[in-house]
Amino acid sequence: MADKMKLAIVDLSYCCGCDIALADLGESLFSLLQEVFDLVYAPLLMSAKDYDQVDVALVTGAVRTEEDVAELKKARERCKYLVAMGSCAAFGGLPGLANLCTHEEMMQAAYRTAPTVKDAQAKLPADDIPALVDTIKPLDAYVQVDLALPGCPPPPPVFVDFVKQVLALVQG
Ligand code: SF4
Repeated sequence: MADKMKLAIVDLSYCCGCDIALADLGESLFSLLQEVFDLVYAPLLMSAKDYDQVDVALVTGAVRTEEDVAELKKARERCKYLVAMGSCAAFGGLPGLANLCTHEEMMQAAYRTAPTVKDAQAKLPADDIPALVDTIKPLDAYVQVDLALPGCPPPPPVFVDFVKQVLALVQG
C-alpha cells in the first residue's frame, strides 16, 4: 500500500459544522483514515497541538481575525495542497454577513442590542481578543487555494469526490 497522505485540519473562525460533517462520515471517514490519510492535526477531533509539513491542509472557516490570517499563512507554508472546505472558507459564508455593517455596529448587536441580551450597557470585550480584519474575504484572497469544497457544510458525496480529486492531484 502506498504511503498515506498526511492531513491537517485547520480551523479558522467557524461554527464547527464542517468538522462535525467530517465526523459524521462515520465508517467512510474511518476507511479514509485507514487507507488514504494520516490525520496529524485536527483541534476538534484530536489532541495534537501543532503540525509540521503535511500533504493536505483542509482549512475550514472564514478569515475573521488577524490570528486567522496567521494560521492560514502557516498552513499554506506547511502543506503541498491547501483545500478550502465549506462556504465560509471558499466564499466568506455566514461570517461574511459581517461585511454588511461596521465593527462597532456588529459589537453592539452581539453584546448589547440582540433580543437575547439582557444588559444593554454590557461591557464590550476588548482585552485578549484577536484583532478583526476589516472585511471577510475568501481564503484565495490571502493564499493560493488548490481545491475548494463548497457547501455549508459540504455534503458527504462532495467530500468523497474531493478525495478522488486529491488523489488525482497528488498522483499527477
Ligand atoms: S461552511 Fe457552514 S458548516 Fe462550515 S464552518 Fe461555515 S457555517 Fe459552519
